[in-house]
Amino acid sequence: MKSTIIAAVLFCAFYGANAQLGAPDVFQTKIGPLTIQPVQHATLVLTVHGVTVYVDPSGGTALFKGLATPGVIIITDIHGDHFDEKTLDSVKGANTIIVAPQAVADKMSEADKAHLVVLKNGESTTQAGIAIEAIPMYNLPESATAMHTKGRGNGYVLSIGGKRLYIAGDTQGIPEMRALKNIDLAFVCMNLPYTMTVNEAADAVLEFKPKIVYPYHYRGQGGFSDVNTFKKLVDAGNKGIEVRLRKWYPGQAM
Ligand code: ZN
Repeated sequence: MKSTIIAAVLFCAFYGANAQLGAPDVFQTKIGPLTIQPVQHATLVLTVHGVTVYVDPSGGTALFKGLATPGVIIITDIHGDHFDEKTLDSVKGANTIIVAPQAVADKMSEADKAHLVVLKNGESTTQAGIAIEAIPMYNLPESATAMHTKGRGNGYVLSIGGKRLYIAGDTQGIPEMRALKNIDLAFVCMNLPYTMTVNEAADAVLEFKPKIVYPYHYRGQGGFSDVNTFKKLVDAGNKGIEVRLRKWYPGQAM
């Protein structure tokens, strides 16, 4: 009981008592503990070795209360749940590096372009000791009128202290996802009509076999996708893959 109270006090002190967020996860890496803080929907915050990385910061400044100013911001695509310039401008610091695809850069203010690194699918950069590789994200079948056309947005693989993180962005279970190797942590979307079903997501995950997978980006037109079914499908297919269900939406109890 006492240790629970101490842990709660430490947690609140460290995270600025941001009651909107669920508890973060911590993983050991070769450069120290890596903290993963789900924020909402497609938005997450990573902290390691004194560096903070925001992925797709959106949804308003209040969500980021108590979190450190990012050294790096990574953006996957043009839609408002990924590129939200108002939130971006309110959370970034004077020297924050922004990594984004060209389609996002084209929509940015000149001020945001000052510290911008544009990556195409297949290109890489290293920022603050974190290797960032852009990989495709798109809808199937490929079509010029798809919500996510191939080549516009970026999924990312980050290498952090020997751990490899995959951030899917908005995509279906494309061959490039299925071909990924040695992924320690994966963030995989599953919502209709924008990305894919839980069945398609589970099928792809069972092929590329991350050690741990977080369903994220799972609010669709008809409400939340059934992430418990996703977990059951992955558990049934491969007990070696851990599915982590976390709080990605306000009001969720996790
Ligand atoms: Zn999205």
